[in-house]
Amino acid sequence: MSRKTKGGRPAKFIFITGGVVSSLGKGLSAASIGALLEARGLRVTLQKLDPYINVDPGTMSPFQHGEVFVTDDGAETDLDLGHYERFTRAVLGRKNNFTTGQVYEAVINQERKGDYLGSTVQVIPHITDEIKRRIVAVAEGVDIAVIEIGGTVGDIESLPFLEAIRQLRHQLGPEHCCYIHLTLVPYLPAAEELKTKPTQHSVNALQEIGIQPDILLCRCDRPLSDGMKDKIALFCNVSKERVIAAQDAESIYELPLRLHDEGLDQQIVDALNIWSAQPRLDEWEKIVRLARSPHDQVKIAVVGKYTNLKDSYKSLHEALVHGGLSNNCRVELEYIDSEKIEKGTVVKDLLKDCDGVLVPGGFGSRGTEGKIRAIEFARVNKVPFFGICLGMQMATVEFARHLAGLTGANSSEFDPKTPHPVIHLMKDQEYLERLGGTMRLGAWECRLERGSQAFRAYGQPHIFERHRHRYEFNNAYRDRLSKRGLKLSGSTPDRLLVEIIELDAKKHPWFLGCQFHPEFKSRPWAPHPLFREFIRAALLYKKSSRRKAPAKPRAKS
Ligand code: GLN
Repeated sequence: MSRKTKGGRPAKFIFITGGVVSSLGKGLSAASIGALLEARGLRVTLQKLDPYINVDPGTMSPFQHGEVFVTDDGAETDLDLGHYERFTRAVLGRKNNFTTGQVYEAVINQERKGDYLGSTVQVIPHITDEIKRRIVAVAEGVDIAVIEIGGTVGDIESLPFLEAIRQLRHQLGPEHCCYIHLTLVPYLPAAEELKTKPTQHSVNALQEIGIQPDILLCRCDRPLSDGMKDKIALFCNVSKERVIAAQDAESIYELPLRLHDEGLDQQIVDALNIWSAQPRLDEWEKIVRLARSPHDQVKIAVVGKYTNLKDSYKSLHEALVHGGLSNNCRVELEYIDSEKIEKGTVVKDLLKDCDGVLVPGGFGSRGTEGKIRAIEFARVNKVPFFGICLGMQMATVEFARHLAGLTGANSSEFDPKTPHPVIHLMKDQEYLERLGGTMRLGAWECRLERGSQAFRAYGQPHIFERHRHRYEFNNAYRDRLSKRGLKLSGSTPDRLLVEIIELDAKKHPWFLGCQFHPEFKSRPWAPHPLFREFIRAALLYKKSSRRKAPAKPRAKS
């Protein structure tokens, strides 16, 4: 097992498990630990182990699992990887997330090839070996790999993962593996106190399978008293300094600082016997300061489909918050279900108090006409507009219908018989479609037109952005739409694929759509340029007089 860092030292591992209930914030805890260790000058990576059987998480419904996060190398992964990338400098990829299904698939393929030479293929050692191989491989070139085990201790599904990490500590030694267990310490109003019993039970369950946690992260909604910490320490066999309170915070970006105040990073480096300097946390302190006391506030309408499930727009939400940080303003989000517009709610009533309109990515025709109406409202009333992926495609349709006279224009995704498929599947994609894999995924290069809003935002002509879509701007309509004033300000270097559309800055203060997903690359300390500029435009709009009297858009589209 090779697990060498670049300097030749073997990498160390932190394993994060969760107990009592799901949704305690394991992903954010892992991300915060990554942030704290990086702040100490250590090179980190993070990995998420998902216990479900799906081989391809990209096909899972955002209703069930929240957003599909896309990496530079085009992997469609769990949204926790988004937290990891937002909290650290680690650039993650396919190997940073795997599922039980992928592990089984690999083992079964090897069995089919005859690699096991006729021996009985079993969970232990074959499945656990494959899990260990993937964990060790991810640690190549870093000092510490933070490994998050999905699911809750006690679930049948995550048992092979837990067995694999138990074996790893046995094989690598205690100073190379640190187990951190995230648990819940609930407050019971009737008893007027916090309760430690669920934590005791979940630590017992871990001990039964041979894992003694080194550190407990206790999620609570109020301070954990010394007495409580003593009690948890005694019952769970963990020293008191390693019982860390993870109290609810107002902003997720406060977590690294809070956990540091509780001594978490010190306990980790002690447990792993790593020498490292005290962390430099000024960057995080600045982010928290900005988040806590902004000078201004803007309200952005996000007009989409999965609006009842905020997790489906996780990265988008955070990127908007980051855009706010760079403009010293709080971003209030109003999620608007575009179907409401189709069912008769007047667009003006929904959008009149908003300082910006954003139409995010999405699949399926439901609500698309409502999105087009919202885009028309933003264009006509000069409200800053940002269209992402599907949002850019719908903005193209809106422009084609209302400014280029292309009645009935649409994306062929929603109307295969449209007379004007301004968004369509390209020929080679149609061929690929039959083979079952059509998405344009991961980082693609884009060239920006000098003088455009996009160029001004990025301040450079070449950018790389992440994609996840099938349909493309139809090149047959380039001339017709450009002549009417649609600026095609970004395209692939071979000019084959349109990546950004916008309206002239003289005609509209900020109207831009991009085929890629910029939200995946925004960081709190480096807000994405397009989000920064969109929020800036929204702020200017709010301060201008225009907002007061919105004009009426056309009745029908
Ligand atoms: N449904 C559109 C396509 O596949 C947009 C996808 C998206 O917004 N991610 O091209």
